[in-house]
Amino acid sequence: MADLKSWKELPCGAIIEDMKAVLDNKTGAWRSMRPVWSEEKCINCLVCWVYCPEASIKVEDGKMTGIDLDYCKGCGICAAVCPKKVHAIDMVKEEK
Ligand code: SF4
Ligand code: SF4
Repeated sequence: MADLKSWKELPCGAIIEDMKAVLDNKTGAWRSMRPVWSEEKCINCLVCWVYCPEASIKVEDGKMTGIDLDYCKGCGICAAVCPKKVHAIDMVKEEK
């Protein structure tokens, strides 16, 4: 069993100090649903970027450029918050 720390040993705010361990853990491997983004429909409001719990929405120069599927868990929040009239993200079944 892993050598777990007690809560008294955790850093203040439970911040993650070892980002390498986080980046090595490709959480996208757990996904059963995949977001499919339409660049043509997207209006770059970036609401999905605000709400994505995995920081998987890729943005450059204020514009969405894609979704990082290495870490996306397929929760569907991005599709749910994308404006209904725009509907730029569809969730589809993951095929492995
Ligand atoms: S499905 Fe969830 S984890 Fe993946 S990009 Fe959308 S909000 Fe982020
Ligand atoms: S919420 Fe929808 S329209 Fe807004 S940036 Fe994301 S994909 Fe594009």
